[in-house]
Amino acid sequence: MTTALPLPPAARWPWPPLFKASAAVHAGAAALALAPGGWPWAAGVLVANHALLTATGLWPRSDWLGPNVTRLPAAAAARGEVAITIDDGPDPAVTPAVLDQLDAAGARATFFCIAARAAEQPALLREIVRRGHAVQNHSHVHRHHFSLLGPAGFVREIGRAQQLLADLSGQAPHCFRAPAGLRNPLLDPVLHRLGLHLVSWTRRGFDTRVGDPARVLQRLATGLTGGDILLLHDGHARAAPSGRAVVLDVLPALLQRCRDAGLRPVTLNEALPARGAAAPTP
Ligand SMILES: [Zn+2]
Repeated sequence: MTTALPLPPAARWPWPPLFKASAAVHAGAAALALAPGGWPWAAGVLVANHALLTATGLWPRSDWLGPNVTRLPAAAAARGEVAITIDDGPDPAVTPAVLDQLDAAGARATFFCIAARAAEQPALLREIVRRGHAVQNHSHVHRHHFSLLGPAGFVREIGRAQQLLADLSGQAPHCFRAPAGLRNPLLDPVLHRLGLHLVSWTRRGFDTRVGDPARVLQRLATGLTGGDILLLHDGHARAAPSGRAVVLDVLPALLQRCRDAGLRPVTLNEALPARGAAAPTP
């Protein structure tokens, strides 16, 4: 089944604050370069500016390179909603058990899927949607050098994933998460054109590196409150001492913490309006 991709937003891409500041820095550097003995200073200023742009792309929760969703909208937070997001699947050895744990708690989650993996597991992808969860875009193949791509590379990686995931699941994603959360200044114009939110997280469990379920749970649940976006992995997951992917030893306890705190895990489809859409009135 093919689902139409979201139409590109009509509005022009709004320059993020760091872009405006960088443009001013470049204009200033040009003027400085014309002054006697000024060019080494101008070169230094430009190098520092580009170093700042690069460093900002390595900071996953920054919004200096464009809008970045790190928490649910205020209305969703006020309703006591949280978003559990699960990355890098679908994985036939892990995802079915994750779905069963979510069902047992009556909870909904969002799966940021790698499209090439989804294409290998189409029935599992459809099962995610059938059980009421959301599928979102986590690129086509999760390239390690994703953050070094240019506009054409971003369009290829994200656009291809968008089409595949929409075709396979029947849901057109409206959110994108960058592999490892890393990006560069050329990403946001592409996301704007595709009508996709960049979504990072409030807290992550580092469960691709940490195999201790108690530590992962503590990272995610400390300060747990309405509006939080939490990150776990069903793909690339580290094994816990139990031998299972650590998410399977963390998720039931995390869902219990949500219940104890009166919080309701919902999907990003429920809690986050389309990019460019007005937030619904509470
Ligand atoms: Zn990932």
